[in-house]
Amino acid sequence: MTGIRINGIVVADAAKIEIKRSIEKLRHQDIEPCLATILIGDDPASIRYVNNKHKACTEVGILTKDHRFKENVTQEQIVQTIDRLNNDAQVHGILLQLPLPTHLDAFDATSRISQDKDVDGLTPQNVGLLSLGRARLAPCTPLGIMNILDHHKIDPAGKTVVLVNRSNLIGKPLQQLLLQRDATVISCHSKTPNIERFTILADIIVTAVGDRDIFELKPDMVRDGCAIIDAAITTHKGKLTGDTPYDDMLVKASHITPVPGGVGPMTVVMLLKNTVAAAAHINGIEL
Ligand code: NAP
Repeated sequence: MTGIRINGIVVADAAKIEIKRSIEKLRHQDIEPCLATILIGDDPASIRYVNNKHKACTEVGILTKDHRFKENVTQEQIVQTIDRLNNDAQVHGILLQLPLPTHLDAFDATSRISQDKDVDGLTPQNVGLLSLGRARLAPCTPLGIMNILDHHKIDPAGKTVVLVNRSNLIGKPLQQLLLQRDATVISCHSKTPNIERFTILADIIVTAVGDRDIFELKPDMVRDGCAIIDAAITTHKGKLTGDTPYDDMLVKASHITPVPGGVGPMTVVMLLKNTVAAAAHINGIEL
């Protein structure tokens, strides 16, 4: 068999149509959704991610504010910037690009973001609401993965879903979203011995380790017809790739996301969606 190649750009474009419609609705009420980003240091990947987010905002009509700091910025300066943006009525979403330089406290800084403007869904309040099944703003990569499953009519209800990642950004929030959709979720991580014992049971696997020298999801670890969502982004043998050998897996899987062009484009679009949702909520508007 040959699986279906999931095109994240096509799914993202479909989501953008809905987002643009919501932006129009807000504009009719004189609300211009606006995302403020905070970038610290000169890490090329982080600069690329933030630039891409600005470009995506501009494309759909979301205003942006760009705050960039040198590597040696103090925690105090970051906290003051967040406080100012929390109180700025023109700003609806605040994104602090992670990771931060080691002298800064990322938990303290993200926790400072107003829960209503927390478009990355990382504040303790929003993490708590997600685990109670009441999330308004959830992390973008898990939301993007749920969107991909829905777009391809892969219903997680009653399915066994194996996650190879338990990070705050991907695995933990995704586990909550999948449980809310009645999946049976198994969370694997670096301390799980013989991961293939679990992956072989899966109807759906979401993998996001990001280092092929330490983990590779090989075709003999999955059963025929499993859907594979590869959210990792890494370089292997000089090529941008995920956790799976894509071509070999394509003949085993029912569906598979490529890297690049799979989960990545959806993450950015869910940030746009969260910003628009935040703008609507802050202004008491039902979209
Ligand atoms: P992270 O915090 O480092 O998490 C990596 C996860 O992989 C951890 O849960 C870790 O387990 C697990 N792991 C490490 N070695 C393993 C092994 N040998 N076997 C099984 N699990 C293992 O990173 P992250 O922020 O979640 O990102 C993960 C990947 O996703 C990266 O490649 C990143 O670039 C990519 N990413 C992609 C997008 C996108 O839009 N597509 C967005 C964000 C991140 P422990 O918890 O035990 O350490």
